[in-house]
Amino acid sequence: MTDRELIEAGMTWLRESKHPEGALMQHHGIFARLLERSDLSVSLVPMGNADQPILCIETPLDADSLHRSLTSNEKEFFDSIPDVEQAVAWESNRGRSYPLALTVSPDVRLLVETYRKGCPTHPAESVFCKCGWFANGRGLVVMPEGWL
Ligand SMILES: [Zn+2]
Repeated sequence: MTDRELIEAGMTWLRESKHPEGALMQHHGIFARLLERSDLSVSLVPMGNADQPILCIETPLDADSLHRSLTSNEKEFFDSIPDVEQAVAWESNRGRSYPLALTVSPDVRLLVETYRKGCPTHPAESVFCKCGWFANGRGLVVMPEGWL
């Protein structure tokens, strides 16, 4: 699987995936390590700033424990992916993030909303409940190939 295919699989998951009742996911979304650019990892955040989905690229740490910037080749690669809004990308202390111009599947939004409601059996524990609620719900998520 190429990096482009991997990212497209994640984008398709954001747009179209369906999940069983009770499935849930943290707002951080899904994560993958790129294969062709193996020192980069990516995540797809379903509901980021202003509820817009985001592609986050994390670069490795340098000798001073700072994340390096993307190279021009890497930027060119990410800028070429459909739905990436390169004009409004921003750099963070971990890499680079791109808002995505796509509509997230209602089922994927529901994953995050279900997580945010916290444990239904032990509401006082909210999202931190250790009864197995999180692991059970997370285990129900239908994941795209190559993503964690
Ligand atoms: Zn609980």
